[in-house]
Amino acid sequence: MKWVYFFGDGQAEGRADMKNLLGGKGANLAEMTNLGIPVPPGFTLTTEVCNQYYENDRALPADLDAQIKAALKETECIMGQQFGGTDNPLLVSVRSGARSSMPGMMETVLNVGLTTKTIPALIAKSNNPRFVYDAYRRLIMMYADVVMEKAEGIETQDGTGIRHQLEGLIDEYKKSHGHREDLDLSADDWQTLSEKFKQLIKQQLGSDFPDDPHDQLMGGISAVFQSWMGKRAIAYRRIEGIPGEWGTAVNVQAMVYGNLGDNSATGVAFTRNPATGENLFFGEWLPNAQGEDVVAGIRTPNSLNELTRPEESKDQISLEEFMPDVYIELDKIRTELETHYRDMQDVEFTIQEGRLWMLQTRTGKRNGPAAIKMAVDMANEELITHQEAVLRVNPSQLDELLHPMVDRQAEVSAQLLAKGLPAGPGGASGQIVFTADDAESQAAEGKTVILVRDETSPEDVHGMHAAVAILTAKGGMTSHAALVARGWGMCCIVGCGALKIDAAGKRMTVDGQTLQEGDWLTLNGTAGKVYAGQLPLKDSDPEGNREYAQLLEWADSFRTLKVRTNADRPEDAAQARAFGAQGIGLCRTEHMFFDPQRIMAMRKMILSGDLSERRAAVMELLPFQKQDFKDILRAMHDLPVTIRLLDPPLHEFITLTDAQTAELATELGLSSQDIEDRVAGLHELNPMLGHRGCRLGIAYPEITEMQARAIFEATAELIKEGVKVLPEVMVPLVGTDTEYRHQEALIRRVAGEVIEKLGVQFEYLVGTMIELPRACLTADEIAADAQFFSFGTNDLTQTTYGFSRDDIGGFLPAYLEQQILPHDPFQSLDIAGVGQLVEIAVEKGRGVNPKLKIGICGEHGGDPASVEFCHRTGLDYVSCSPFRVPVARLAAAQAALREK
Ligand code: PEP
Ligand code: MG
Repeated sequence: MKWVYFFGDGQAEGRADMKNLLGGKGANLAEMTNLGIPVPPGFTLTTEVCNQYYENDRALPADLDAQIKAALKETECIMGQQFGGTDNPLLVSVRSGARSSMPGMMETVLNVGLTTKTIPALIAKSNNPRFVYDAYRRLIMMYADVVMEKAEGIETQDGTGIRHQLEGLIDEYKKSHGHREDLDLSADDWQTLSEKFKQLIKQQLGSDFPDDPHDQLMGGISAVFQSWMGKRAIAYRRIEGIPGEWGTAVNVQAMVYGNLGDNSATGVAFTRNPATGENLFFGEWLPNAQGEDVVAGIRTPNSLNELTRPEESKDQISLEEFMPDVYIELDKIRTELETHYRDMQDVEFTIQEGRLWMLQTRTGKRNGPAAIKMAVDMANEELITHQEAVLRVNPSQLDELLHPMVDRQAEVSAQLLAKGLPAGPGGASGQIVFTADDAESQAAEGKTVILVRDETSPEDVHGMHAAVAILTAKGGMTSHAALVARGWGMCCIVGCGALKIDAAGKRMTVDGQTLQEGDWLTLNGTAGKVYAGQLPLKDSDPEGNREYAQLLEWADSFRTLKVRTNADRPEDAAQARAFGAQGIGLCRTEHMFFDPQRIMAMRKMILSGDLSERRAAVMELLPFQKQDFKDILRAMHDLPVTIRLLDPPLHEFITLTDAQTAELATELGLSSQDIEDRVAGLHELNPMLGHRGCRLGIAYPEITEMQARAIFEATAELIKEGVKVLPEVMVPLVGTDTEYRHQEALIRRVAGEVIEKLGVQFEYLVGTMIELPRACLTADEIAADAQFFSFGTNDLTQTTYGFSRDDIGGFLPAYLEQQILPHDPFQSLDIAGVGQLVEIAVEKGRGVNPKLKIGICGEHGGDPASVEFCHRTGLDYVSCSPFRVPVARLAAAQAALREK
């Protein structure tokens, strides 16, 4: 079995399209090598090695060693160095590389191959003992932490692990020798510290730091594989939906150094700006530094070029200015990579004594607005097609454009607390928390929190996810916090140096002002501004964004599925129309009954003793309902509006306070006891499966009659006014064709009466929700009469699984944790089960009624994966909340394009 793929000197065994086997990083290192870009040579251990490792009880395959040795030989050859050699020793890095990037979630070991034997040779060669001992102590620290502690499964309390203890030794040493910065330490200092490190490791972990290069290499490789099943990698995979079976690859690569003096440097760059999408080469670099220094946020890095240098960094030198030739070469590689990959790349580079090496390229993460701008720009530049542009943007990324922003007026008069780097756009207000655990627990209590940290680390991801925004004192635009927030489209500010955070004391001071946990902050992530207090947020204006409008115009030209909206207020309908909704797919009518002015009539109807009393009570609602429908039909003129008859459980109307009971008693001429008795008589143990949906309209036909009359009178009056309206009356929670026919007959009778009474002809449809398994299985019987179906997948999911939609929160976390369910089925449609019922209903329904119009109006109508299913299943439309209309439009276009 081939476990190892070599790359180096213009030739590689792998290619970019081998990501599943080589991981993203390995595949791209191979591809870059093949393009002739300067990449330090090395080799990739495949994801299959990882899977074997776990299948074989955490043992590496027997024939791996020989393949590693052979690849190492080739690497040595190209570099003119020997691994473990005493003349010109080769050092390597050992890094993870999964199929899709998991920033910082797995382990890395650098400088592997430094031993007591190779140190003198490297000193002789580099003439820089300080660099060598600094590299050595870094290796010892990383190795002890990653290989000897974490991979061995040694659990430590926060701040007590071996790395922390070793850092403690450095601090102690600096203090006792009067040094302030790491840079003040000499070669001898680092040598002394390295010896102290080894002693402490032996004492704490019970074994020696290995002095054999091969042992170091194999230890590093196993540790990286081990980190695939580490706690934070598992947590990240769960949030991102990355399957555990993918495994990670491991890349072993010749080390090159950006910290060999002033002619060396290291940096990261994006071929376009990942925060705005602008076609400008954008990045950060540090002179005389290692790669980890840039991303760890310990030093604030410089801008790559003059064009992108922010006002705040006037006194820093750009790479363009500092090393113009190297910058030109890097800029050329930028163009080569973009032309080759036809997408924005995120690269890491190192300059070792004036020579440029590319360490990594991958498709860069970007926020929503940037993704849209890049896709449209690249299509206009003819780098990609319109179809590709539409496929490039993740539908949920549109959300970011639809995100609230801090109200401008309020911002002008607000007190600016501090400024940082604008890492994630949009505005957010929340209460301060200082730890990820607090963020998670307080968010679970329903608080809106902003996570404030010195810097974030992968251990914080759960809290970062729970917060509405992230604010850090340290780090640059490529720091951990910035990368993760950008990936999730979150509001985020980093490098806000004015914050003096005392996480243990749960407070921070900024410019003399102290803020505690629970105090409110507002962030403008687009401008990097932090304000004390809770400023109002304002809805965004996506229509003002040219690229967004262009992208959705292209999307509309590709999609076949229509997109409607769920709206029951005229203002929501107008909003949805502005977002491109092609009608209302669900106008719920319940809130219209719960209005304080109207609920009394409804209660009187339910509790009244005889038919005429009941009728009189419900007819009190007719004028209100007629106005409701007029307003909404007018707002959606020229487009269809599906109005659903009353649906909620009866008991929701008759949960009464003493005062309400007394008031009702007076109205109905009864005693309070009588009212209580009648309410008790209607009590249900299981209201969700009880007296609701069409059962209400069958037991109390006056309700259906009143609603139908209100709809049709509104229609007739609007038509008289010259407004074109297309009402569709929808019966809820039907399980049998007889239920449907009972309600349909009533509705059609009322329609006839209204047409006759008002002398206006109008068109209308009558149809039904399909939200019970029985309705799906007998869809042919129902479709014989119904003109349309609308899948109520909220109830259909509830009744298919037998999970109460209101109570799933009790056990869902355990289900997701233990992978009993892959996701919340109320968020994204369960295609295998609920989806199958939908397919059956579509087939049976269209079998008897080919013209049957079919849509979906459950929450799934705005979920991209569910939209794709709806497209495949031949639905005519999806209907979702107004803010998800653009998301559904894009998802529908992508579904159509993917099918081709
Ligand atoms: C549904 O059940 O999917 C639906 C749209 O109706 P409701 O959520 O109002 O029950
Ligand atoms: Mg329902």
